[in-house]
Amino acid sequence: MSTLKSSLEGKIAAVTGGASGIGLASVKGMLGAGAQVVVIDRDESALARVRDEFGDQVTTLAIDLLDTKCCSSLVPRILEEVGHIDIFHANAGLYLGGDLVEASSEAIDRMLHLNVNVVMKNVRDVLPHMIERKGGDILVTSSLAAHYPTPWEPVYASSKWAINCFVQVVRRQNFKHGIRVGSISPGPVRTNLVSDWPEDKLREAIDSGSLIDPKEIGDTILFMLTRPPQVTIRDVVLMPTNFDL
Ligand code: NAD
Repeated sequence: MSTLKSSLEGKIAAVTGGASGIGLASVKGMLGAGAQVVVIDRDESALARVRDEFGDQVTTLAIDLLDTKCCSSLVPRILEEVGHIDIFHANAGLYLGGDLVEASSEAIDRMLHLNVNVVMKNVRDVLPHMIERKGGDILVTSSLAAHYPTPWEPVYASSKWAINCFVQVVRRQNFKHGIRVGSISPGPVRTNLVSDWPEDKLREAIDSGSLIDPKEIGDTILFMLTRPPQVTIRDVVLMPTNFDL
């Protein structure tokens, strides 16, 4: 067994949006390293597939984080189920691309709510628990879009920019409690989310071979989480070599 394999042995992690795509890759990476993982998602059939595949290693919670009550009961529910949280991965997010003038108010509100407000509230709720336990890891899924904003995703890029700022502040406020806060900012990843991309952009990414395999993200997350406690990896930006920026 490699050192990495058992390096999260005994840890309890929670991953939002963990039933597919990047969240699922994060879940698989952590399970492979010996963690017990709570998978939170609104998609019940995807959660059932996760239970079928991983059995007792996972606890699943069917929660729509856009529902205000469900969102505020998330951390208490996880604690009720598994007792404590060592790692919290705020990953669930929505995409909104295309021309700003075409975007509906409803779509803007939903996306900002999930990508920004929910992440901030979940992190706010998990912090007192980690402070009391004198440690923990908080990881947020951001995006390459926050680092290289592109004209076809103004609201999405801004949501991830906001969350990057939040990550920096929370990191600086909480390192004294032994809490590490980091983010991962991938370029285009082969998940369901990219099907919401503008068609020409998706075609371009597929044709140029520039979609990243989710497993790369899972491996990177595992690398971040398995550094020694005194090392925090601030923000990892992962992009395809041939991405034209
Ligand atoms: P995905 O659509 O494959 O997975 C998102 C998961 O979140 C799904 O299982 C979905 O059911 C769940 N989810 C969505 N809304 C929810 C809600 N209200 N409550 C609970 N669960 C909810 O997408 P993905 O690509 O894996 O995206 C995950 C994160 O990665 C997002 O924050 C996204 O912005 C970010 N990201 C994705 C890419 C990409 O190219 N795919 C690139 C950079 C960043």
